[in-house]
Amino acid sequence: MLPRDPQADIGRRAWVACPNCDDRRGCGDCEERRTCSRHWRYLLSSTGSLLHLQCRSCTHIWTHETGFGATRSLWQRMTRAW
Ligand SMILES: [Zn+2]
Ligand SMILES: [Zn+2]
Repeated sequence: MLPRDPQADIGRRAWVACPNCDDRRGCGDCEERRTCSRHWRYLLSSTGSLLHLQCRSCTHIWTHETGFGATRSLWQRMTRAW
């Protein structure tokens, strides 16, 4: 398969709180840090420990510093690429 454009690819998601709209507030799945089916972000790209994300709810784009770029397993817990 040819590589797809990584911009706003529905197959690349990250479960990170949006700093703009906080749409996870009050969601049971998110509070238990499960991979919620509603509150995920488009993973536009990643550079080291930095994730470039776009919120589905408010289309806000921001950079999230994970702080654990070297530990791959933690990074994969937050993101999932299909
Ligand atoms: Zn948002
Ligand atoms: Zn949720």
